[in-house]
Amino acid sequence: MIRLADRIETLEGSKTIALFSEVRRRLAAGQDVINFGVGEPAYETPEAVVGGTCTALEAGETRYGEVAGLGALRQQLARGFAGAGVDQVLVGNGSKQLLYSAFQILCNPGDEVLIPVPSWVSFAAQVRLSGARPVFIPTKGHQLDLGALAAGVTDRTRAIVINSPNNPTGAVYPFADLEHLGALVVDKGLTLISDEAYGYFTYDGLAAMSPYAIETLRDHLLVIRSFSKHHAMTGFRVGYAVGPRPLIAAMIRLQSHLCGNVCTFAQHGALAALQVPESIWGARRSELMAKRDWAYSRIRRHLPCIKPQGAFYLYPDIRACLAADEADTDFCARLLESARVAVVPGSAFGGGGHVRICYAVPQAQLEEGIGRMEQFL
Ligand code: GLU
Repeated sequence: MIRLADRIETLEGSKTIALFSEVRRRLAAGQDVINFGVGEPAYETPEAVVGGTCTALEAGETRYGEVAGLGALRQQLARGFAGAGVDQVLVGNGSKQLLYSAFQILCNPGDEVLIPVPSWVSFAAQVRLSGARPVFIPTKGHQLDLGALAAGVTDRTRAIVINSPNNPTGAVYPFADLEHLGALVVDKGLTLISDEAYGYFTYDGLAAMSPYAIETLRDHLLVIRSFSKHHAMTGFRVGYAVGPRPLIAAMIRLQSHLCGNVCTFAQHGALAALQVPESIWGARRSELMAKRDWAYSRIRRHLPCIKPQGAFYLYPDIRACLAADEADTDFCARLLESARVAVVPGSAFGGGGHVRICYAVPQAQLEEGIGRMEQFL
């Protein structure tokens, strides 16, 4: 019998990915499932992106590339960060791999990383894989509890991870809170990891501010962004990190052993995505805002729900609908079995008693799925 390492024996697979596999299996078996589970916008990848990728393939861009990413891509990305040099940008296989690398580089065994909850499913697992301990910090109405964060810092704390707009709640943190948090991070000599995968998706004219705008924080800040959601390129696996030179240099060293480089022609696709007119993305964002409004107005008739300001999820409270001894996981299993609607249980995000509904699906599916949920409720 093959013996696995202890840290892998205790590692659970990603719950969002597991649900996606289950939905795929059911769809392949002919079941009529509405998938509100996976966080993937239903939009087509723009033709220009596909074209840029194909052109690169035809031009023979099929060989090893620079570990840190395509020079032209890094240059363009650096322009979005005032004062940042190309050597402060690293292209990785999606945000996921970059976050994994960041924890490997920042944490020693026994260190601690503060994570406001609810939080994306992979933060805690990735922290544990580095040998560090995730310390979960409750939020208030889905917003940062700055007092609780300050109280959570110990001499083992190395980093704080934030994700605004937030997956799963859709909360967007006000800039004043980021400033307070930034002051704490600098004062305690920590690193702030800002996962901005949903940075483009804010609504009602609200801008998602990046803590990168706080100049005094930049030596303590790692920003991680992704082409996946904004540019409808989830399968390309292209994300990027921007941070202080020593941190990025260490991440590049790790990447040289981990994957060598991100698929070269996928990076050309990303380069092409940066040329797509803003109006295309803006129209999609407006559509998503309309879907948020529609889905929110329906769901709140049945369940308490804080109106999300960003991302593309609703995160209603289902506690009043749970049968005795029923957990949110059981509720989601029941919903999938009887109504054929897939949603993710809040407990996957350390949140319990809630479900995450992804509304970035075609309107007809949204209406059908919410209608089924209403009947079920
Ligand atoms: N980030 C998306 C989600 O939360 C995709 C799946 C994953 O990587 O977790 O659904």
